[in-house]
Amino acid sequence: MKTCEIISVGTELLLGDILNTDAQFLAQELARLGFSVMHQSVVGDNHDRLLASLNHAAQRSDIIILSGGLGPTPDDITKEVACEFFSKELVLHKESLERMTKYFTNKGLEMPESNKKQAMLPADCVVFENNNGTAPGLGMEKDGKHILLLPGPPRELKPMFFESAVPYLKRFSDKIIISHNVRTFGIGESAMSQLVEDLLESENPTVAPYAKDGEALLRVTAMADNESEADRLCAPVIEEITNRLGDYIYGIDLTCIEEAVVALLKEKGMKLATAESCTGGLIGKRITNISGASSVFDCGIISYSNEIKHKILGVSEDDLKKYGAVSEQVAKQMAQGVLKLSGADVAVSVTGIAGPNSDVTDKPVGLSYIGLAHKNGVEVKKLMTGRNDRDYNRYVNASNALNMVRMYLRGENNG
Ligand code: ATP
Ligand code: MG
Repeated sequence: MKTCEIISVGTELLLGDILNTDAQFLAQELARLGFSVMHQSVVGDNHDRLLASLNHAAQRSDIIILSGGLGPTPDDITKEVACEFFSKELVLHKESLERMTKYFTNKGLEMPESNKKQAMLPADCVVFENNNGTAPGLGMEKDGKHILLLPGPPRELKPMFFESAVPYLKRFSDKIIISHNVRTFGIGESAMSQLVEDLLESENPTVAPYAKDGEALLRVTAMADNESEADRLCAPVIEEITNRLGDYIYGIDLTCIEEAVVALLKEKGMKLATAESCTGGLIGKRITNISGASSVFDCGIISYSNEIKHKILGVSEDDLKKYGAVSEQVAKQMAQGVLKLSGADVAVSVTGIAGPNSDVTDKPVGLSYIGLAHKNGVEVKKLMTGRNDRDYNRYVNASNALNMVRMYLRGENNG
């Protein structure tokens, strides 16, 4: 197996301002994947010293993993120095630029000129897409040596490691590495980790938690000679996790919660209808992303104005005035309204404040109410994301709405 080393880049790490949790995470995960991590070092955001560190590292290790310094500011120089070291030219990577531009426009912002440098990548690298920030990571090779670049923020680094770095590193292993994702909803990463604390220590398979888009998941990874042997190692651990996390789990190896909802609707022979305000059709969009959704999705009403909430969904005008559009009463009546209108078996509604600005009231950004109506009645969940991030709030509201439908379908509230 090839030797590996970690270089953490960042002056704030050197000064002790922040703890080097990225190195801890990488060291643990690499060891679990069977890589011998021989050295770890920390270097400030300094061109000459970083270049010297790379030079030193390349003399003794086959794979060098760097974290940090991929941001848009002039002190973020990791990629430039790594490319200088490998004599690689940076060229514009169009897909990354497009993805980053979209990241900003989705937030209602224009991408600052300085961010464009993050889309400059060496032509022959393997690009690691960043689904939780702007800076792409990458893997590149020269003369048998490999450099992997990962962003510093742990919430970007961890998912990128699993999604892109692990597949990149697989080529160095003579064993097969198989991962299964146990996906949960409604429990935070640390609460979930506590429930399976002892399993996180296990060696083969390893169990690693991480959080993504308001969800927590456990990745179970086994290394073996072949796929069936790896699956055989994973099976009892997945079973134990399933026993402990129960209904929080919406699926194993599913890509998203809407997949679980569509499968459950099909299984029960039920139909769903939606009434969406702040999510603007996102629940409907996510449901209809799944092939075969037409047999289970009846309709979606996007009711932004109070007039439509009243006229189409039958929300009381008095309640709209008295409690405001973002209220428990309105969420309830929206769900009941679309259930009646459609004749679906279950209906879900969302009304909330996605941000960046509040509505005419003084209600906080990130507040929302999700209504669920079915034959046994109606229920409402109040949600406070605590974040002023329009995309995030809308996505998480839609996920929570889908999860309420899932819990109902699982017979939790079926009566
Ligand atoms: P950004 O785009 O945020 O600038 P970056 O890839 O350039 O990301 P840095 O500028 O090095 O990364 O670090 C950004 C932040 O990420 C730090 O302020 C810190 O909060 C976190 N971070 C960076 N490196 C580490 C590390 N090794 N361990 C834990 N957190 C880290
Ligand atoms: Mg930075």
